[in-house]
Amino acid sequence: MNELYQPIETLPGVGEKRAQKYRKMGIGTPYDLLMHFPRTYIDFTSPVMIADAENGEPAAVRVTVRQKLAPSFVRRGFSLYRVVVSDGASDFLLVFYNTPYTYQAMKPGEEYYVYGRLTGGFLRREMQAPQVQRVDHALLLQPVYPQTTGLTSAMIRTNVQKALSYLDQQPFETLPAEMLAGYHLVPLVQALHDVHRPDSAAVLERARHRLAFEELLQFQLGTLMLKHRTSVQTASAMQPADLSDFYAGLPFSLTHAQQHAIEVICRDLCAGKPMNRLLQGDVGSGKTAVAAAAAAFAAKNHVQTVLMAPTEILAQQHLQTMTAFLAPIGIQPVLLTGSTKAKEKRAIRKQIAEGSAPVIIGTHAVIQKDVEFASLGLVITDEQHRFGVAQRAALAEKGGCPHKLVMSATPIPRTLALIIYGDLDITVLDEMPKGRLPIKTFAVTGGYRERAYGFIREHLDAGEQAYLVCAMIEESDTLENVQAAETYAETLKNGPFTAYRVGLLHGKMKAQDKDAVMAAMKAHELDLLVCTTVVEVGVDVPNATLILIENADRFGLAQLHQLRGRVGRGQMQSYCILVTDSRREDARERLKVMSRTVNGFAIAEEDLKLRGPGDFFGHAQHGMPPLMQAAFCSNMPLVSETQMAAKALLEQDPELRSPALQPLRTAVLQLFERNGENGLN
Ligand code: ADP
Ligand code: MG
Repeated sequence: MNELYQPIETLPGVGEKRAQKYRKMGIGTPYDLLMHFPRTYIDFTSPVMIADAENGEPAAVRVTVRQKLAPSFVRRGFSLYRVVVSDGASDFLLVFYNTPYTYQAMKPGEEYYVYGRLTGGFLRREMQAPQVQRVDHALLLQPVYPQTTGLTSAMIRTNVQKALSYLDQQPFETLPAEMLAGYHLVPLVQALHDVHRPDSAAVLERARHRLAFEELLQFQLGTLMLKHRTSVQTASAMQPADLSDFYAGLPFSLTHAQQHAIEVICRDLCAGKPMNRLLQGDVGSGKTAVAAAAAAFAAKNHVQTVLMAPTEILAQQHLQTMTAFLAPIGIQPVLLTGSTKAKEKRAIRKQIAEGSAPVIIGTHAVIQKDVEFASLGLVITDEQHRFGVAQRAALAEKGGCPHKLVMSATPIPRTLALIIYGDLDITVLDEMPKGRLPIKTFAVTGGYRERAYGFIREHLDAGEQAYLVCAMIEESDTLENVQAAETYAETLKNGPFTAYRVGLLHGKMKAQDKDAVMAAMKAHELDLLVCTTVVEVGVDVPNATLILIENADRFGLAQLHQLRGRVGRGQMQSYCILVTDSRREDARERLKVMSRTVNGFAIAEEDLKLRGPGDFFGHAQHGMPPLMQAAFCSNMPLVSETQMAAKALLEQDPELRSPALQPLRTAVLQLFERNGENGLN
């Protein structure tokens, strides 16, 4: 059993180099490896005939080797290995580049399963760099693992198989027996075998259900434990204070939702327990004004407030807005970021330490590092969308138990928010300031692209700005997306938008470069910004009135809504054009929802109905730890079932200390440690 927790290089077949690669992925032991679940499976259970397979798409085919062609050495360092195979009806070529191993292992006359992308014409079709399995010991559902360079799924599969053999030596289970029986769950050992080496789709489904149950349970135990701990801490109790001078200084009157949020927050600040509140509100709902009110309230209590932003440009933006809101009552916020000059930094640090700076705005990194406060009492974080367990756990650690307010622009359906943010109290700004023009949204096919470009040019000529979002897949900083955006930007620059200033922004750029591009956009030094989905949602470019999103059908509604939120921030009418070439009825239907509503929460509810809760758990956007199996879960009942199970367990045993719960406790601590340093211990 102990073998499971030894360093990963003790696993036969894992050398020092490979161990390093595993460590990079956060896999340090054979146990970690077993918890590294397949991302998907190649399905060989229903192979197709080559004639029925589509060009450009991957296909699984059962073939017999006809002939191995002699290797050809195209040029130095580039060789081709080709094998002629037949599916019984027609012949085609398997092509391997620079990888002789599979080629060498294949024997004429033998049968194999092959899987790869098809190219070529009618005369001779080719399968590029296919996966190959012998028919006699094929895994018909072949796991594909999340990879890192230099570690293929095949290598991981071999290592996993060895690690699985350790499991059979002793009983190994995290969940108490009554729970397994009560919820009809398969034992862990079996689930691990089945998720890594499934014999059938049914077995895989059962295994995933069990693992998803456990992931969700652990996650909820963790958040509930965090909540329990903060509930027994104490924090400085502030005194009620009159904010009417602050209100009088605002250039607008607050919405009801904003007023309500401010009341709730001020009540928290006076309660003597640390506040732990999430302020959720759509982009543009006016969260900053609420933050300013809280800071004003704290200042009147002689308590310092910190407002942390994820990027430098957002911090600068906050400085401007907060100054506008707070200067009328005599508060000058100070800014502390990475690019603050050393001398100035020293001066500001001194003010903070002496207490003459009541409101401090900056980037996380800078403020969390060795800044000394005279009387820090309120920490506000503006996370836009990336608000994770990691940050929450780290915040829980921040000394002296300050009150904490987190602002997030991701609308999440209430039922799920209660789970994902189970450790926090939640307030929602569900009302937009008056007088906003709703963004006009259209879903069109690629055939309308030229006309859309023309429409965009008209608006650029009128001095407005536009975003063009180009991504092949939803995950934002993949190489695929970066390349697609780069190519797209080139095409536009050399074609329909030669006369305009076109910029490019993607997730693989350095933070500094990203900030520079966004600053250029803000300063109207760019007319058009081509980007992947990664753009800082919080950056305010009121002059941007148009956003065109390519491949819109590939995104969730919630994400489309986030993207759309980059426009419609000024007084002018804004437009969102969703381009799709999908002929699928449901895809079009989904996009129509976007034209019908601009309310983020309604859209999130719709997304939950259409895509299931798994989508919320699988998404890095919500800052969840990677609940990999839960990401496949399509049913809400499992989510509430695990919530009830977690509450029941904690009622009996708030710290999970009983011997039967030890393994579960350890797993929960690990989940939160991995993701939040010392979140719980
Ligand atoms: P977000 O919730 O996205 O952070 P902001 O706080 O940036 O929204 O507010 C968006 C814009 O709306 C800002 O220009 C802000 O000054 C303005 N605003 C905020 N509250 C109101 C209000 N009650 N009435 C009119 N404008 C408002
Ligand atoms: Mg904001």
